[in-house]
Amino acid sequence: MDVRLTHALGDAAELRAAMEEADIVPLLLVLAHLGGDAAILDEAAPYIHGAWNFMHTLPAALQAKVRDRLAEVLRDYDATGRALPAAPPAHLLRKMLNVGVGQEVPQEYVPLLLEEMRLGDNDPRSVPWRARPPAEVLAGFRAVIIGAGLSGLCMAIKLREAGIPFTVIEKNPTVGGTWYENAYPGCGVDTPNHFFSYSFAPNHDWPEHFSKRNDLWAYLERCAEQYDVRRDITFNTEVTAARWNAARARWDLTVREADGATTTLEANVLITAVGQLNRPSIPDIPGLKEFAGPVFHTGQWDHGQSVAGKRVAMIGTGASGMQTGPSIAPDVERLTIFQRTPHWAVHNPNYHARVSAGKIRALKHIPFYAKWNRFLLFWASSDGLHASLQIDPDWPTPDRSLNATNQQFRKLLIAHITKELGARTDLLPKVVPPYPPYGKRMLRDNHWYRMLTRPNVELVTERIDHIDPDALVTHGGARHPADMIVLATGFQAGRMLWPMEIRGREGDTLRDRWGDDDPRAYLGITAPGFPNLFMLYGPNTNLGHGGSIIFHTECQVHYIMQALREMLEGGIAALECRQAPHDAYNAKVDAAHRNMVWSHGGVGNWYKNARGRVIANSPWRLVDYWALTHAFSRADFVVGLADR
Ligand code: NAP
Repeated sequence: MDVRLTHALGDAAELRAAMEEADIVPLLLVLAHLGGDAAILDEAAPYIHGAWNFMHTLPAALQAKVRDRLAEVLRDYDATGRALPAAPPAHLLRKMLNVGVGQEVPQEYVPLLLEEMRLGDNDPRSVPWRARPPAEVLAGFRAVIIGAGLSGLCMAIKLREAGIPFTVIEKNPTVGGTWYENAYPGCGVDTPNHFFSYSFAPNHDWPEHFSKRNDLWAYLERCAEQYDVRRDITFNTEVTAARWNAARARWDLTVREADGATTTLEANVLITAVGQLNRPSIPDIPGLKEFAGPVFHTGQWDHGQSVAGKRVAMIGTGASGMQTGPSIAPDVERLTIFQRTPHWAVHNPNYHARVSAGKIRALKHIPFYAKWNRFLLFWASSDGLHASLQIDPDWPTPDRSLNATNQQFRKLLIAHITKELGARTDLLPKVVPPYPPYGKRMLRDNHWYRMLTRPNVELVTERIDHIDPDALVTHGGARHPADMIVLATGFQAGRMLWPMEIRGREGDTLRDRWGDDDPRAYLGITAPGFPNLFMLYGPNTNLGHGGSIIFHTECQVHYIMQALREMLEGGIAALECRQAPHDAYNAKVDAAHRNMVWSHGGVGNWYKNARGRVIANSPWRLVDYWALTHAFSRADFVVGLADR
């Protein structure tokens, strides 16, 4: 890596201005990295109490010293043209990690973090060939990916990089998946964006720390272009069925094209990347179909309908409702929110903050700033809470919290709610959830509580009995007139891969094995009886404690790329997961979940199925899942060799 700051950042004043707006802890880490300065870390350590950028109390004088020294170090690199170092030496690295987040970072995280940050020029998550297969072998092979959302794109990008032919079948007219489909007002990410992006494709131009849907979608569009995968995506086309053809060791796919015609397609390997949250769940409320005004789901927002000046009824208060409600409340005549169960929502000072121009310049031009910033965001929003989501069997109030840490968190959340509601203490009993924090997905407070205090907003907690053409009527008989209904009622998450019919080696389908809502897979990726089928964002791979789903996707893609390397280098025609590792893995998943918050009997969530088994979420820390998927083991598979 080379540095020429004079080109990038202009003069010293511009560099200084960027540094003033940049966060101090990543600057400190850059200084330690480039200057080899461990002493400044000791000086700063007492003032850093956590990984978020608002968790330090570094005195102004010390901050100025860091900025001055870093300016000097950068000038020196610039003047001498010295090459930048790659990773710091091990002892300095450990110290940087620990000081940066104000706590000891266990050694088990170090290799993961080095991968995640990519301190060198190469992508450590790429899977290089050990012996590149002959061109005719590659040419005779085709992977089919179903879905061009963020998982499918990641897979396609890595296949392109390896030179493995692929086709992506996408039901929508363009890429982006959930970030294309969900275009409701206020839709955005609630994982910090400089971490919620591919590790190999950082975006320094995120306008907000938690950007909105258009920016997320545009990022994925850009990635499709930049990595040249769009030419192999077939849009407006849907895979409806897949059948394993044992004689040819191929998947025979039935595909519905844009005009409704059906064709077939053959694939050596089938990779599903359809997400867990894209089939809307429409509530079965009497009279809904007869409602006179527009009715639409958040995931299918009707942009032809204006909410301005209308009486809008919104059913559902999950992550989609949390973003929609406060975004439309100022424009509507009346917003009536029907809440069945309150959610917990946490405040984050960065949630509504824009990224300043100086910080964007620092991300782009100060060497390693973006990488250390990514490390800090990873740490701030990943495994830190995992231990506190375990149930303490001796805890005296299991209905309200799980353990002492969870109880403390509950108190902080209630203090935030109370502050936000101000004089409207009458709302407290309605909005404080009667179950432990994290029992449902933790939301980020999008000024929800403030919105509830608006004169044109009403929170209804009585159940809806039925819907008249012009009103929603609750069990007590109260009528709530409405001009339109927004269904923020979530998705059919448990019916994974539905409605596709995927028929395996023994002639039965995945649905036959899984039932309606009981999916299982080894590592969430592969299942016995279904050779050469790999799943992205499959069973038990959703993250409920923290982290970024992109991190999990990259773990899965890395694993699948190793499987494909094994196949293509080794002349393997069929690779099928063995029953024993699959069953043992799922037994471990279930055992781990029994002690975790999502199994809590006092609350429903989309993470578990009708029988209470957690099917969507991973019980593992990120570092555990990373270790589980890091090295592909051929011993876990039955291998069928090709006739060569
Ligand atoms: P959700 O979390 O499943 O919430 C659905 C809401 O609708 C719940 O409040 C639910 O009540 C209510 N509901 C469902 N059926 C109902 C009925 N018949 N009558 C009354 N209320 C009913 O769905 P979501 O908000 O679309 O979010 C789903 C997931 O998508 C999130 O958990 C998250 O993973 C992802 N997401 C993320 C973001 C983000 O990153 N910011 C934004 C949106 C979505 P109950 O709680 O009582 O079931």
